[in-house]
Amino acid sequence: MAAALQLQTHPCFHGTCQLSPPPRPSVSFPSSSRSFPSSRRSLSAHVKAAASSLSTTTLQEGIAEFYDESSGIWEDIWGDHMHHGYYEPGSDISGSDHRAAQIRMVEESLRFAGISEDPANRPKRIVDVGCGIGGSSRYLARKYGAKCQGITLSPVQAGRANALANAQGLAEQVCFEVADALNQPFPDDQFDLVWSMESGEHMPDKPKFVKELVRVAAPGGTIIVVTWCHRDLGPSEESLQPWEQKLLNRICDAYYLPEWCSTSDYVKLFQSLSLQDIKAGDWTENVAPFWPAVIRSALTWKGFTSLLRSGLKTIKGALVMPLMIEGFQKGVIKFAIIACRKPAE
Ligand code: SAH
Repeated sequence: MAAALQLQTHPCFHGTCQLSPPPRPSVSFPSSSRSFPSSRRSLSAHVKAAASSLSTTTLQEGIAEFYDESSGIWEDIWGDHMHHGYYEPGSDISGSDHRAAQIRMVEESLRFAGISEDPANRPKRIVDVGCGIGGSSRYLARKYGAKCQGITLSPVQAGRANALANAQGLAEQVCFEVADALNQPFPDDQFDLVWSMESGEHMPDKPKFVKELVRVAAPGGTIIVVTWCHRDLGPSEESLQPWEQKLLNRICDAYYLPEWCSTSDYVKLFQSLSLQDIKAGDWTENVAPFWPAVIRSALTWKGFTSLLRSGLKTIKGALVMPLMIEGFQKGVIKFAIIACRKPAE
């Protein structure tokens, strides 16, 4: 995959993207030891604790390296969408349906958020926050004839995403760069659609993440966050059970994730910023066939040999895949969608 990267300036519509992997983003967060606090009193105490106890720099370097290393093998086997598929519960799935299920995930998310198909009202400017190699961006740009800007921490992903856009004749419409979702390189009030497909779980400071999503959204714009959450806590619970936290910690370690939050934590964050039409959905059942399928593909000869060649981080990630299934089955992990609208001025 990296072979497809070219060392040339990308003729991007805003002129800053490059086809070659750009330099790593410089981050200047305070450094401290990486840990996963389990106590959780209120949303803000919990989230502040998570933000301050993590070395964000270490986390972000880990995320960048993980995706630099693993995106090629993923693309080889699964294509350019690096997210779950959406399946009808109980449906019978054959191997070739998984790509279609990933597209369905995009379509269902748009439907859930009530994005208009009407040419006059459909999104014209989109940001893809945590864009991977740009599967969503290119799809959305084509579907709506929109301009789309994607950001990722991985230089390899940004380079590959631009190369694919170029090869598909979309260079004037979509553009990717290395940038931090917690400090986005965009002015306020820019985007009709702010799209975060399975990147929120990597964010060490959820209030900052949500605040940035809201900041860059245009007045009246829609924000869609599809993300891994832990279950909502009961009224008498202050934290997850120790066994639940232990399970999540093992997943965090392999996938470079900080402290998790619940779906209702996201809802509260959007409420605190006065967002409108806030909706949340639990799609855990709709993604159930996904990880068993990923494991099956890793166990094919092609999957297995690619994994061996890929590197330690990718292998470590593959080894914890069964824990994702366990987390979903035991109700600890929820596959969530949260959508809302920024008030029009
Ligand atoms: N949305 C893509 C990729 C999901 S993988 C898809 O559905 O295909 C998670 C992505 O989040 C990766 O591209 C990773 O680089 C990105 N990411 C994680 N933390 C980030 C951060 N702080 N800023 C920008 N991107 C981030």
